[in-house]
Amino acid sequence: MTARSNIKKPVPAVVTSEIQFDIAHRLSLAVWVFDIDQSRILQANPGACKLWGAESEAELCSRNLGRDMSVTVEKRLKQYQSDFSNSDAIFKELWTLYPNGMPESVMVTYRGFTLADGRMAMLCEAASSADDTPENLRSAEALLHTDVLIMLFSKDGPPLYLNPAARNAFVGPISSYCNLFLDHDECRKMSTQVEIVGEFRVVVKLKTGGGARWFDITTKDCSDAATGRPAILMTAIDVTQLKEARDTARFLADRDQLTNVYNRTYLQTQLSNYNGSDDRENAIIFFDVDRFKLINDRHGHQTGDTVLKEIAKRVGNCFPEGDLVARLGGDEFVVLVQNYAGVRDLKVKIEKLRQAIAEPIEHETTRIDVTISVGVSIFSPASSEFGDVLGDADIALYASKQQGRDRVTFFSHAMGVAAKARDRLEFELKRGIERDEFELYYQPRLDFSSGHIVGAEGLVRWNHPDRGLVYPGEFVSVCEETGLIEELGRKVLFAGCQQAIEWKKAGLDLAVSLNVSPRQFSDPGLLQTLSDIAAQPDFPHGQIELEVTENVLIGDPASITAKLKTITSMGYRLAIDDFGTGYSNLAYILQFPLSCLKIDQSFIDNLPESGPIVQLILTLGQQIGATVVSEGVETNAQFDWLAARNCTQAQGFLISRALSVADFEAFCAPH
Ligand code: C2E
Ligand code: CA
Ligand code: CA
Repeated sequence: MTARSNIKKPVPAVVTSEIQFDIAHRLSLAVWVFDIDQSRILQANPGACKLWGAESEAELCSRNLGRDMSVTVEKRLKQYQSDFSNSDAIFKELWTLYPNGMPESVMVTYRGFTLADGRMAMLCEAASSADDTPENLRSAEALLHTDVLIMLFSKDGPPLYLNPAARNAFVGPISSYCNLFLDHDECRKMSTQVEIVGEFRVVVKLKTGGGARWFDITTKDCSDAATGRPAILMTAIDVTQLKEARDTARFLADRDQLTNVYNRTYLQTQLSNYNGSDDRENAIIFFDVDRFKLINDRHGHQTGDTVLKEIAKRVGNCFPEGDLVARLGGDEFVVLVQNYAGVRDLKVKIEKLRQAIAEPIEHETTRIDVTISVGVSIFSPASSEFGDVLGDADIALYASKQQGRDRVTFFSHAMGVAAKARDRLEFELKRGIERDEFELYYQPRLDFSSGHIVGAEGLVRWNHPDRGLVYPGEFVSVCEETGLIEELGRKVLFAGCQQAIEWKKAGLDLAVSLNVSPRQFSDPGLLQTLSDIAAQPDFPHGQIELEVTENVLIGDPASITAKLKTITSMGYRLAIDDFGTGYSNLAYILQFPLSCLKIDQSFIDNLPESGPIVQLILTLGQQIGATVVSEGVETNAQFDWLAARNCTQAQGFLISRALSVADFEAFCAPH
């Protein structure tokens, strides 16, 4: 059944209880009255009987047409019934009848027909018209079955025609197309655009029988084919599913999957599109969890994830009013704060955030206390200073970490300058490593009992192309932070070992000790490097000593012992550097396979006040059978004090500074 044309002219509703049907009997048209409620034909003229392939009117009226009627057709008929009751509608549509089981398409015109009992029936007229070319019939059929809503409205509002899909979609009478819109502003916008450019396309929400749904609407200015009056043709496609899928996809693309707060990409897009026109200050709060790696290592990744989720939730609670919370990855979070009244208020908010996060986090039976380091940068979108605000906040965060964590730092200009210098240094270090600008100097170690030089500590120096010799105090910490220490340390280990081999060949019996920094020690590649070195044919077993600091040995004792044992089994010896300055647990540190304790130079500096501590370390060394080396020996008094207490070796400026290989060899040569 297809609606093909719309109301042609206003016709009064049929109000008589019966029509003079005998007139109809004389017509060549097929005319019948259809009882919508009973799905039966009540009256039919000979034309109709012929059309329906009926022997007689009585036979036709006895047919139950409801039996083969689809639910859709039934629904549509009910809809017409209600339309006839409410208006003078006349419909002309294509019906497919099955008179002898064979389909026959005929154009049928319907109008309301009130029965004697007051019920609304339908008067149907069918005629095969010259218009009913196959093309017309097919286009009419397509209009009937399409899911696209096709609607024609008169310019001033009321509908002139709705196709079945449109009639199904909306409930109740539609007095104007604006009735369909959920947002009347959208309708106004549409009308204006159609007025100006003749056409408009938009995706909006419309009120349908099934609630508010999204439609892709195209509206065109046209004229009503029947009257020539200005009209609006509207086609609407239900895109709710697509829109929801797209919204979900966008939600997922913008969010961090673990915590559901925004992700780095979204934050960066927001910041780069952030060209606010006002002078109002905004702030970036950048924070990360102190020692988060330790939480993961100690309690497992699941607990780590719970901590991150809980933190995200708490941050969200602290900044609910449209401020943007994002997780950049790992344990790093950012809040873009737009709603605050001055720096004092911002500080209050940050303090609340720290307090909220400081509340213990519970996961199963574990209770975790968390602190955060915070960096803040303030910017005004309109000012020229609006640049890399995220980078500035990161620099401030770095300063918080450097100053011992669990604190807040506001970005300052000086901090920016220092960060630039650090970046420059990092760049030069990378280049220096590539160009082999590093060289090991050797500081002699003297044996108290024999008075001979028995070993040397390799200390790295940088032959900087512009600045000359640069000492490790200026660059080792940056190498450590940036990870460059892994590459530099590898080169040092190879070079130091090569030197020991060469001295051995030259008849010099010298142990060489080399520094291994914490990051180097935890680098999974270290064992491979050490085993590659030990695999060299002339590797001097027992002559290479690795110096590690106490903090390297904090953590899971079982895995550290295993790692140390692997190293010693390859033929290396192990020393604890700066002994006495760390917080290591003596009880288990002494279980490690250690060959040497190096007393930190601060204790030697403070002799004789620090005498009891030095004595204690000497005793400890003797007990575990380790060599004890005193570092930073500068005076004869210090030397004599240590010699009198059976210290094994001395290292310090009194004996010699660190020397280049040539100078070192000259120093050791018999005079
Ligand atoms: P460290 O391992 O404690 O090395 C001893 C430092 O004390 C050296 O400084 C040495 O020159 C200095 N020193 C030695 N005797 C005296 C003395 O009598 N008085 C004074 N005031 N100082 C003395 P340097 O060479 O500047 O090295 C500083 C630190 O840099 C080293 O401390 C070590 O932690 C690190 N480092 C040096 N070379 C390397 C390396 O190749 N790899 C790694 N990972 N770290 C290194
Ligand atoms: Ca050392
Ligand atoms: Ca030391």
